[in-house]
Amino acid sequence: MGKVAVVFAAAAVVAACSVAAVMVGRRMRSRRKWRTVVGILKEFEDACDTPVGRLRQVVDAMAVEMHAGLASEGGSKLKMLLTFVDGLPNGTEKGTFYALHLGGTYFRILRVHLGGQRSYLDVQDVERHPIPSHLMNSTSEVLFNFLAFSLERFIEKEGNESDSQGVRRELAFTFSFPVKHTSIFSGVLIKWTKGFKISEMVGKDIAECLQGALNRRGLDMHVAALVNDTVGALSLGYYHDPDTVIAVIFGTGSNACYLERTDAIIKCQGLLTTSGSMVVNMEWGNFWSSHLPRTSYDIELDAESSNSNDMGFEKMISGLYLGDIVRRVILRMSQGSDIFGPTSSVLSEPYVLRTNSVSAMHEDDTPDLEEVARILKDLGVSDVPLKVRKVVVKICDVVTRRAGRLAAAGIAGILKKIGRDGSGGITSGRSRNEIQMQKRTVVAVEGGLYMNYNMFREYMEEALVEILGEEVSQYVVVKAMEDGSSIGSALLVASLQS
Ligand code: ADP
Ligand code: MG
Repeated sequence: MGKVAVVFAAAAVVAACSVAAVMVGRRMRSRRKWRTVVGILKEFEDACDTPVGRLRQVVDAMAVEMHAGLASEGGSKLKMLLTFVDGLPNGTEKGTFYALHLGGTYFRILRVHLGGQRSYLDVQDVERHPIPSHLMNSTSEVLFNFLAFSLERFIEKEGNESDSQGVRRELAFTFSFPVKHTSIFSGVLIKWTKGFKISEMVGKDIAECLQGALNRRGLDMHVAALVNDTVGALSLGYYHDPDTVIAVIFGTGSNACYLERTDAIIKCQGLLTTSGSMVVNMEWGNFWSSHLPRTSYDIELDAESSNSNDMGFEKMISGLYLGDIVRRVILRMSQGSDIFGPTSSVLSEPYVLRTNSVSAMHEDDTPDLEEVARILKDLGVSDVPLKVRKVVVKICDVVTRRAGRLAAAGIAGILKKIGRDGSGGITSGRSRNEIQMQKRTVVAVEGGLYMNYNMFREYMEEALVEILGEEVSQYVVVKAMEDGSSIGSALLVASLQS
């Protein structure tokens, strides 16, 4: 071989070696990055773990906090608010009634017609619209004028067909925020939640605000009750099945109410009702316990929210927040490796990933996870390999499994407080062998998260059986109540008139 040929051959070997070295280096770097992603996922999964032992601690904490909130004003993060609802619709109600429901994402208007028999419940013209986002930061006048205007349009559509022509219309105002009631007809806003921020409204009477706006528009409509959405759901549940004593909402936010004995409401000595009981609005979104599995993502989400240090339980279990927890984990992975490509600016926007998209990704049954790819693309993340899409599905699963299981622990906590969990309640020292006869207990559940996210529902129901045991859970019936909070509030108004 000539000298020149030897030099070329040597150069070729060197070049081949360096190409190989670059490739090996790249592969090692990519493996390292993959390991980073897997590490973040594992750490997150461990931090979200909810074995049944931990859930039972949450159950106990919920029952204890309920006691504390009933014992004294400010005795717990659970406000345990009086609703002044001491009787629930029983099926004999008659007439036409309206409901306006201000939720966290939607407002709804509907009319019900009741024929005096449980089977004769006709729900008419249900209208559901997203709440225009500028209203959440507006003024009380703008918000209530908008609601009154929407009601006016609803009534105009009735034309001459309605049997309520010429008669004052009785309206239930279903309001999904914490209110301190002075009666079933009135109450003042304690604070906003779920991203609403109209500060001058705090302390104002909510029913009065709506009645004022209706009067200004000249509408002959009477705000006959101010009803928390949970109480509406309980009313519909009870109307259909008198064993219903608990109602829970899993929508934009989360809350629960239940029927309590008045003598257990210690903070209101001498509270007398004909039924001997009253519905208590727990405002459980604000529940907190050191047993809740909190991660760094939850802490960041809370710190950056408009109501930090508030509504800790709601931020782990409800529709407004689940998407943002998932987004934060993906963002951390994308910053720690390039498996999602260059970090997308869209992905950095709070709340850009909605919980509807989380359920769509979680329940994507296409072999290539095409729905996951499509939603990631909307977040500015394109062309991710299948194994990365699978990681995203896993994140959705971890977040939703934790939410569903904690939601179940919350429900079991209420069952424990009222002695329906098979343990004899928290004040009794009775052993499992001495349990009194277990009563059938119906839990009315509603809200967009529960109604539409199958995996959330399945995780919740599975965990409830795990916590209560097969035997006791046979007596606990969870019933979905579509539009329960609005329909039930109208029924409640009807029951007040009869
Ligand atoms: P509101 O909270 O205004 O009363 P809903 O009870 O209908 O309204 O709840 C709406 C919320 O439910 C949405 O903001 C979303 O978080 C959640 N949600 C609705 N549809 C789905 C879905 N398909 N998958 C997961 N979450 C959903
Ligand atoms: Mg709702």
